[in-house]
Amino acid sequence: MSRFLSPRFSALEEYIPGEQPRGFDYVKLNTNESPFPPSPLVISRINDAEVSNLKLYPDPECKELREKLADYYGFERENIVLGNGSDEILSMAFMAFCDSSTGCVFPNISYGFYKVYADLYGVDYTEIPLKEDFSINAADYFATGRNVVIANPNAPTGMSLSSEKIEEIIKTNPDRVVLIDEAYVDFGGKSVVELVHKYDNLLVVRTFSKSRSLAGARLGFGIASKEIIADLEKIRFSNNPYNINRLTLTAGIASVEDDTYFKGNIQKIINTRSRTAENLKKRGFTVLDSDANFVFAKHGCMGGRELYMELKARGVLVRHFDKPLIGDYLRITIGTDDQMEKLIGALDDILKTEGML
Ligand SMILES: *Cc1c(COP(=O)(O)O)cnc(C)c1O
Repeated sequence: MSRFLSPRFSALEEYIPGEQPRGFDYVKLNTNESPFPPSPLVISRINDAEVSNLKLYPDPECKELREKLADYYGFERENIVLGNGSDEILSMAFMAFCDSSTGCVFPNISYGFYKVYADLYGVDYTEIPLKEDFSINAADYFATGRNVVIANPNAPTGMSLSSEKIEEIIKTNPDRVVLIDEAYVDFGGKSVVELVHKYDNLLVVRTFSKSRSLAGARLGFGIASKEIIADLEKIRFSNNPYNINRLTLTAGIASVEDDTYFKGNIQKIINTRSRTAENLKKRGFTVLDSDANFVFAKHGCMGGRELYMELKARGVLVRHFDKPLIGDYLRITIGTDDQMEKLIGALDDILKTEGML
């Protein structure tokens, strides 16, 4: 730390992303990326002409992509905001709607960035414990008087909350924003995006990083009432009006156009997820019911940290969170069938070495 850092950040604990290893070809199941490349349409559109156009600024209003998304989800362009990853939408929302008096609540086990943004912006927050089975108790979020942030499906559990319960949460917090982070919803969860037509306090956040194979392009979006979107646009134009670069806009548009490719990949992940969950259960794992592109699992005979290390030594990278309540679990991204076979092979080797198989 330099002696120049503002004291308001001296105690800030930053978000630590999953490893992006260089130089060794891991079976990479640690950051919930898609194992499939972006749509061929995306790849063909990022051509010489597009690259030449990098001399020009992108459209700060991102009209074309916002219109595409608006059509796709049944809204108008003014209901859509784009972010440099959905992380940026979260960041803008915390900045815009949460402060030391309105505060916010989110589950104690969820996406780690919520706490970081709350700390960054000096937001008063409460972490609400999950139930013992790792589900969210919706009633804990009724009439909180505070802004509510929930990932649905939740991370890193992969478990969903029903649309009916989410609607109750939205209804009972009419004077606060309810942010539903649907980063994983394409993999079998149920979106509440339709409720944006009904409630002016709902902000749904989505990403191109997981289901659309564009993690490296950094593209996310929010869907909400025109008023909420106008607030987020005010923040965006006050911070970085060119937050989405030209190539990413082009990639995003092509991705939305190629719906067949998108849906096909999702189905593959869902099929591989159920086979993987079965294979893990057969080997003695407890596996939570996942609606996401990962499973959250533990083996009674070995701690999470140790299993993570043993897998890494065998070339398989998964995610372990050194935190209370979930320290025994591993979050395993669903990759291709071939990658998951390698995972299972490595696990069999570990369990044999330990005399458990
Ligand atoms: C991955 C993830 C995000 C952020 O994704 P971006 O790459 O920034 O779009 C947001 N929320 C949850 C719950 C995630 O898992």
